Amino acid sequence: MKTIYDVIIVGGGPAGLSVGAELSKELNVLLIEKNKVGYTSKSWFVPKDVVMKNEDIIPQTYGGVTRFLTNTYSGSPYQWNAKLFDRYPYIKERDILIYWRDMILRNGSEIIEECTFEDHEVLDDRVKVETLKGMFEGKLLIDASGVDSLILKKYEIDPKNYYWWSVYGAVSKHPGGVKNMKVGDYMLWQTFKDTNANEDTSLRNGRPVFEYEILDENTSFSLILFLRKERMSLSIMEKEFKHIVRDEDSTKNFHDMEVQEYKYGWYPSGGLSQRIARNRVDCIGSAGCWTTPCGWGMGFILNNYKQYSRSLIELVKQDILDMDSLYNLVDMETYDKSQILLNQLITHFLSNASAPQLDKFIDLFREIDPLICEKIFTLKVTPDELVQVLRVVVKNFDLEDLAKIIPHEDYVHILELTKYSVLTFLKDLFNRVFHRQKPVQESGDGYDFEV
Ligand SMILES: Cc1cc2nc3c(=O)[nH]c(=O)nc-3n(C[C@H](O)[C@H](O)[C@H](O)COP(=O)(O)OP(=O)(O)OC[C@H]3O[C@@H](n4cnc5c(N)ncnc54)[C@H](O)[C@@H]3O)c2cc1C
Repeated sequence: MKTIYDVIIVGGGPAGLSVGAELSKELNVLLIEKNKVGYTSKSWFVPKDVVMKNEDIIPQTYGGVTRFLTNTYSGSPYQWNAKLFDRYPYIKERDILIYWRDMILRNGSEIIEECTFEDHEVLDDRVKVETLKGMFEGKLLIDASGVDSLILKKYEIDPKNYYWWSVYGAVSKHPGGVKNMKVGDYMLWQTFKDTNANEDTSLRNGRPVFEYEILDENTSFSLILFLRKERMSLSIMEKEFKHIVRDEDSTKNFHDMEVQEYKYGWYPSGGLSQRIARNRVDCIGSAGCWTTPCGWGMGFILNNYKQYSRSLIELVKQDILDMDSLYNLVDMETYDKSQILLNQLITHFLSNASAPQLDKFIDLFREIDPLICEKIFTLKVTPDELVQVLRVVVKNFDLEDLAKIIPHEDYVHILELTKYSVLTFLKDLFNRVFHRQKPVQESGDGYDFEV
């Protein structure tokens, strides 16, 4: 008789494997991956708290970012030591994927490699899944196939409101060491004279920005990032990356690097669509838009995969797998939605601002306490800190100019999302006035799903 799996997962990246490892403790799981498990074209560093919560994940990490730097072409360089955490750990990419793979196999579930998902059909009591290696059946299908998901395409889920970070870079050895750069350095934002050469150009149509992380005394990960409505092709990114790391004066520390491995990919930004599901089909990781405007997709996965899986096990056991129940698995706290909104506004600004406006914005890092900067991009900023930031922004920018930077077509989207900030404020006020409780923001826990 044909096996009907409890869950079939498409995609052996961090989302599929981590959730598969948890589900396989109690359910019969089949995971299919189009390549071999254990390879990824991405690299990850994450806020320290998401690692410290997961004791089993700690051994799969090393070192991390300890110092942030910025270098705008029209300003002077700036740097600060990490304040929120002593470091932001790096994940050992291969080790963590293999760790989860082995757990799935040890728990008696199955993985089929070099097996490409092609299509699926949802029936009343199960899902039929077509792959290059045959047909399989499961009670639930989980899409963890990343940004090119065929399942999202089939359901015509169009991420038209997103901006895309298109990223291309390389882990490289430096024969003479990393010179005046320090292990733990993270160049957060470097522009070039022609990144956005005049008032009329922006990141949206200009050249990318440059970043790097110094992994150890001889190794760097250097990369370029485009932020646009459309995704950049690999060939354009490859050409631009080579030009930047070989020819630009300001990247001379990278001119003689020996590339070990190229890293690349895309992640959506500027949208809040963590709730994507259909009857008997759920989407997780990049396919489920588990990301933030600043790209902490792996942070989201590490922060939520255990709790998400525990709740899902109960639903699968009771066979409650309709769209609404699956939707509710990953609703987010109002507090977190408002944090993402703030990051979204920054995304819209970064993509559309002119060169001088962009550099002026990055220069605000000198006036705003770096702790608050870190809190903004790890989704931990409090309303009081937000007010401090807004004061600095208003002091330095003409509000009319700022309003013009956000494209007209994005206003409805932003207004809709503004309600989350208002809701957080009202909830906070209500708690303070009627229950004398701690403000909502102090109990916030970054990008948690409300499960
Ligand atoms: C260059 C880069 C750097 C990044 N840096 C960070 C960082 O520092 N910190 C952070 O938190 N996040 C970072 N991110 C984001 C992070 O990488 C993603 O959020 C994360 O990889 C998402 O995991 P996933 O499992 O959902 O998708 P993916 O990692 O994309 O994995 C999807 C898997 O599905 C497989 N697959 C695809 N289609 C099929 C199919 N049809 N059939 C079968 N299998 C299929 C793929 O082969 C792949 O193994 C970065 C992203 C990029 C591109």
